[in-house]
Amino acid sequence: MAQTIWIHRLADAKKADADGMEYICEHLFQGFTQSGKLTKAKGWNQVPDASAKDGTTYRGLFCDSCEKNYNNGNVRMAKEPVLV
Ligand SMILES: [Zn+2]
Repeated sequence: MAQTIWIHRLADAKKADADGMEYICEHLFQGFTQSGKLTKAKGWNQVPDASAKDGTTYRGLFCDSCEKNYNNGNVRMAKEPVLV
């Protein structure tokens, strides 16, 4: 059973910093929260069709470990507010 990958939505202004991806994984989010910018320190993997259980797909940017854990359907949107 694959673990859930939590994603956070980026504000429109930040999408350019994420190579056009709209959502980032929990770990990139934590780094972003700490440093105020997106860094590639934990990996940088574009997953343009990351899918949730209900079939919704997201343009995601994942760290290396989330990329490795990713399976179809194990992405979930986090409840935290949108990053600005
Ligand atoms: Zn991650």
